[in-house]
Amino acid sequence: SDHNLNYPISPAHMDWSSHYPAYVDPDTLKTNLAGARQLTKNVEVVDIGCGFGGLLVGLAPLLPDTLMVGMEIRTQVLEYLTSRIHALRTQQQNLKNKAAKPTSTEAPESTEQPTEMDTSDDKAPVPATDDDIGTTKIFPGNFENITAIRANTMKFLPNFFGRHQLSKIFVCFPDPHFKARKHKARIISESLNAEYAYALRPGGLLYTITDVEEYHHWVLRHFQRQPEDAEKTEGEAVHAPGIKDIWERVSDEDLAADPCVRVMQFETEESKKVTRNNGKKFVAVFRRLADPEWS
Ligand code: SAM
Repeated sequence: SDHNLNYPISPAHMDWSSHYPAYVDPDTLKTNLAGARQLTKNVEVVDIGCGFGGLLVGLAPLLPDTLMVGMEIRTQVLEYLTSRIHALRTQQQNLKNKAAKPTSTEAPESTEQPTEMDTSDDKAPVPATDDDIGTTKIFPGNFENITAIRANTMKFLPNFFGRHQLSKIFVCFPDPHFKARKHKARIISESLNAEYAYALRPGGLLYTITDVEEYHHWVLRHFQRQPEDAEKTEGEAVHAPGIKDIWERVSDEDLAADPCVRVMQFETEESKKVTRNNGKKFVAVFRRLADPEWS
């Protein structure tokens, strides 16, 4: 239950220092409202219901300078992902040490860091999630930019992230419930939609993917004005802007050019399962527009 969930009383009270040790500000005097060491940059990307972390591990080398966090409610899943990230970091460190240390017979050819950076492929270096622990490549960012926390994102998102802090939010294959009484329990709803708009900066993106077509339509209805919405306001002198006016669906053309979409479609554990079962995947990405006048 939520009783044993730890969450900060405000974003300024969140201690991120143990999550991103490579990004802790060297100035020990810089502390936040809870007395925790500050980071040199803010967390910008959130994976809601991250599961085993395939998305984060896939995105880490694509956005090597961006701090990303997965939020997961199940303790054991969170523990697995945390050790997966630690293992990847340790392995990267070992590979870097090995590459930096010349063997007795081989002198290094130059003074440059002789690391094996995998930037030669035009395809981004995304580790295969099943065997990433066995990789021999050094990846940009060395997985220092990803972490995971245990949280109920339906309740405590504004405790972690301030207004306009985020550039991307991912909601990949959430468990949808279709009974009417379960509507409130959905990860996409009118009130959560408003929370996502609050945390995302103008121009920021909210990514969704599901294999359940009915749920996909539910998502579309919650981010786009419907004909029945217009009927409701017909006859009113002033068109009252609502939360749906803050979102614009991203075109297929833009999606094709966004490498994050491929990671979402093929690297999350759930997306792999859907691929194996020849299931369909429905993608919808929304751009958060500038705040309207009433904000
Ligand atoms: N996104 C991952 C993927 O694509 O492989 C995992 C998908 S899995 C079907 C849904 C995940 O959301 C589960 O790991 C579940 O524990 C988590 N979850 C469900 N409700 C949640 C909540 N309120 N807060 C955080 N995580 C939640």
